[in-house]
Amino acid sequence: MTSRPDRSTALAHLHAEIVRRNPAEHEFHQAAREVLDSLGPALAARSEYRDPGLVERLIEPERQIIFRVPWQDDQGCVHVNRGFRIEYNSALGPYKGGLRFHPSVNLGIIKFLGFEQVFKNALTGLGIGGGKGGSDFDPQGRSDAEVMRFCQSFMTELYRHIGEYTDVPAGDIGVGSREIGYLFGQYRRITNRWEGGVLTGKRAGWGGSLIRPEATGYGNVLFAEAMLHERGEDLEGQTAVVSGSGNVALYTIQKLIALGANPVTCSDSSGYVVDEKGIDLELLCQIKEVERGRVSTYAERRGSSARFVPGGRVWEVPADLALPSATQNELDEDAAATLIRNGVKAVSEGANMPTTPKAVQLLQQAGVAFGPGKAANAGGVAVSALEMTQNASRTTWKADQVENELARIMTDIHNTCAETAERYGSPGDYVTGANIAGFERVADAVLAQGVI
Ligand code: GLU
Repeated sequence: MTSRPDRSTALAHLHAEIVRRNPAEHEFHQAAREVLDSLGPALAARSEYRDPGLVERLIEPERQIIFRVPWQDDQGCVHVNRGFRIEYNSALGPYKGGLRFHPSVNLGIIKFLGFEQVFKNALTGLGIGGGKGGSDFDPQGRSDAEVMRFCQSFMTELYRHIGEYTDVPAGDIGVGSREIGYLFGQYRRITNRWEGGVLTGKRAGWGGSLIRPEATGYGNVLFAEAMLHERGEDLEGQTAVVSGSGNVALYTIQKLIALGANPVTCSDSSGYVVDEKGIDLELLCQIKEVERGRVSTYAERRGSSARFVPGGRVWEVPADLALPSATQNELDEDAAATLIRNGVKAVSEGANMPTTPKAVQLLQQAGVAFGPGKAANAGGVAVSALEMTQNASRTTWKADQVENELARIMTDIHNTCAETAERYGSPGDYVTGANIAGFERVADAVLAQGVI
């Protein structure tokens, strides 16, 4: 039996190795450390988890693909972007995870996202492995024709690596149903196959699932609600701050309103909007989804209840709930301290790793319910798996059926995290619960399938 100090020394050594072998991949180091820091009790309890090489195999992606993506803009000028697909772990099913198109994308970002995805997907219980991809292409300000040419060039390389039984990409930041349409078209053209299950997040009518666009935001609100119920509270009448104004933020706002809460903010990279009367979702959707505009326009059109705060962050607005739904590391220590000072009760992550490790620690120490992204935002990929099910059986489910199933999955994820945290002596700690529960499912499958 290995003693406790030896085990934590081994995990610390492993983390040092990760930093050494993956230089400058800061977000990946952060995501890996967070999981490693949670695993001590699981390794102590189950000797098979101390198998040499098990954790190392979970840390090292099965395959990392990096490729050139050349494309021509509307003026005929050639641009060269970089494409990525990290096929992280396929012990539980085909690699599954989104594509992110954003200028900040690099190998470390895609690896952190892929690593998180492995455990998140395991938590859904739906038989999907983990992967992630994307490009440093910036769709902002590009015409439809430019986006189409970029997507076609990206898929001209990606097609050889993916398939409904191999690897199933979807959307993430900068990739919505428009991009999925162009990517699917090019895949179909190159392969001469109508293979619906190769991509998810397709539009309804040609293989997409109803409720997929809504799923991440809806699921996060359901997760926040479940955390509140544990504490004998409800969403009704609670004020919420939401960051971001993409797909996740919009449907988070919609579900909060539907369940009686009052979301008062949204944001983009230029600043945030606070609306005393609560966000007018119809106006926000018109600006963001139809016009592809900025949130400052919302304040201009909404009238006196709303103001735009250039360069500010939504966390300075007093609220009962915070739902970070923009991007990684957007909620830091200072923001956490402000939220705590203002009496926040729960923080639930709609984005991937939006809260810095220090901020998570502060929130948990202050007794704030904290829902980590790999549990709280798993609704999106869960409905992607339901889309794959519909594609495989050539059926289309009604919206009600998808939504009921999403609610069941989110309750199940919440309960699994809560029970696992309890079992390992950290009641109410959803970070430990999510990391260990996800780890157990993937590790059991990896061990059973041998050293591969
Ligand atoms: N990009 C989403 C996530 O972070 C969804 C992935 C998918 O649907 O495959 O989970």
